[in-house]
Amino acid sequence: MKYNELDLQKIREVPIFDVCSKLGITLKGKGKITKRTLCWNHNDKHPSMRINKDKNIYKCFVCGEGGDVIKLVQEHENLDFLEACDWLVKEFDVILTNHTVQNHVKSKPSAPPPPIVVPLDAALVTKSKGLGSEFCKAMVATGYLSDGQLRHAAERYQLGYSKEGGVIFWEIDEQQQVHTGKIMYYQSDCHRDKGHNPTWVHSILKQQLPVDYELQHCLFGQHLLNERTERVAIVESEKTAIIMSEKFTDFVWLSCGGMQMLKPELLAPLVQYRIIIFPDADPEGEAYKQWIDIVNETQRLYRFRYPIRLSPLLEQKTTKEQKERKIDIVDFLFEQDESHV
Ligand SMILES: [Zn+2]
Repeated sequence: MKYNELDLQKIREVPIFDVCSKLGITLKGKGKITKRTLCWNHNDKHPSMRINKDKNIYKCFVCGEGGDVIKLVQEHENLDFLEACDWLVKEFDVILTNHTVQNHVKSKPSAPPPPIVVPLDAALVTKSKGLGSEFCKAMVATGYLSDGQLRHAAERYQLGYSKEGGVIFWEIDEQQQVHTGKIMYYQSDCHRDKGHNPTWVHSILKQQLPVDYELQHCLFGQHLLNERTERVAIVESEKTAIIMSEKFTDFVWLSCGGMQMLKPELLAPLVQYRIIIFPDADPEGEAYKQWIDIVNETQRLYRFRYPIRLSPLLEQKTTKEQKERKIDIVDFLFEQDESHV
């Protein structure tokens, strides 16, 4: 056993309210000792989970799920016992009796060797750069971003535009290799032009592609990852990543380009980052469920430094009507603002 009884005792004493806060579990109620939250183990409509500070335990009075902080981390983050202990030790700097254990926990997980990519010519990006797309105009006109914010974001994400006025979302990795670009068309209200399908730069280039080119997607915005950033947020759409990057600058905002596009190999280059993923809302919670499976599969295949978190925010806080509209985090924040005016 990696941890002795004394260590386990110390780990079990990490304050449960703090653990909840770190896991993004919102606690409700005015009680100083007991708080409530939605149970993550059953389909909970009213907060049935009780969190008791004095006993440092939690218990759902509907489904019976409960235990100590180790169990909490195990269940909430889908980790095994040792992984949950490691996580608590690392996150709360628990002083252990055996220091070698601590060193082991802090060691940096190894990233899988980067896949060999035959990149597209970087000059394509440079030549396409600019604010000439309907997308860029609409972003400012509809008030999502100020002119200054749009210019800043367009430069960071290297936004390009096509002859037909489409915006080009380039997929560039952290080695600055250009994987491909997605050309998308927007209307003046900043919604997608449904009559104009997105196209890909690699499929337009055809004969001019490097001979050994093979399409490998990377995340939109991946080139922004660097040593100074640790917190990464992933959303479905490029537009959402761009807007959020100007509003919540603590994170590097990346987009996978759609619900079906999130794959373990896409997340693999991010093993040393703290990742939070925001699935869009939908009536059945499909995206949320599907992405839980992908997150679990990813963590089984690769050793991540921190548990990947899937934000339950939209799943829990949106109305039925908002779910039907399949709103995303940007819609949610802007609609919150409006309702407060
Ligand atoms: Zn429950």
